[in-house]
Amino acid sequence: MNTSILSGVEASKALYNSLEDRIAILKKQSIIPGLAAVLVGNNPASEIYVRNKTKKFEALGLKTDLFRLDENVSEEELLSLIDKLNTDSEFHGILVQLPLPKHIDSEKVLNAIVPTKDVDGFHPENAGLLSIGKPRFIPCTPKGMMFILKHFNIDLNGKHVVVIGRSNIVGRPISILASLKELGNATVTLCHSGTKDLKYFSKQADVLVAALGSPQFVDSSYIKKGACLIDVGINRIEVNGKSKIVGDIDQESVMGIADSLTPVPKGVGPMTIAMLVENTVLSAELLLN
Ligand code: NAP
Repeated sequence: MNTSILSGVEASKALYNSLEDRIAILKKQSIIPGLAAVLVGNNPASEIYVRNKTKKFEALGLKTDLFRLDENVSEEELLSLIDKLNTDSEFHGILVQLPLPKHIDSEKVLNAIVPTKDVDGFHPENAGLLSIGKPRFIPCTPKGMMFILKHFNIDLNGKHVVVIGRSNIVGRPISILASLKELGNATVTLCHSGTKDLKYFSKQADVLVAALGSPQFVDSSYIKKGACLIDVGINRIEVNGKSKIVGDIDQESVMGIADSLTPVPKGVGPMTIAMLVENTVLSAELLLN
């Protein structure tokens, strides 16, 4: 079997193309979708993530400002910045890059973002809307996965989707999305570290989503022939003294057995950024309506 590669770079290009018209309509009404990105401290990985995200906004002629705060900033100061951004009409989206320093309550900070600017889709109000099938802002990574599947004509209707990982930002929301009648209409099994006999479930998957954060964990013994594999993992490992990014799937071992897979890198990652842009454009549009 020839395993096809579901390129997130290709899918994200299609999304950016479709956004151009929507952005032009907004600009005609003097609205430039704007993102406020908040970065606390100097975590090198967070710096790269934020730079990659804001770069895309700049490339599309959108507004993006980076608010840098010192590692030792107090929770109060951070909350007061969020308060200001909540009412600043130039910003349609607010992104607080995680992780935050230990002395800050991340949940409290994320919940302080007004739900209508919560373009990451982490606020309980947006999570609730998604779970009742009336999504406003869907978390970017699962939204990106749904886009890739649609882009490559992989229909979830009636399929068995097995998700490994139940985090609030990846595993749980993709399991809800895939199960929604209008969006996926799949039968979904959600696995986690308490799942007994993970292989029993993963081998039943028509579409397997690996979002557990464990490098190359899922090998050929976890999948059935002809499955579609969505690899969400981003793990840095050392190979021959060199650092390398790998997913949660051992991609070499599943080649020729899987029908298709998202590569790492250049799979789900680029879609996550593209969906942050899409959610910010959507936020600006919602304000108009
Ligand atoms: P997380 O919050 O650590 O959640 C991991 C989930 O996997 C948990 O539900 C955990 O179960 C489950 N799990 C861990 N080991 C397992 C095992 N051996 N068997 C079954 N389940 C297991 O991670 P996350 O934030 O969802 O991220 C997952 C991966 O995706 C990471 O590699 C992360 O870097 C990557 N990621 C990528 C993107 C992207 O843009 N491509 C975005 C976000 C995250 P418990 O709940 O029982 O602990």
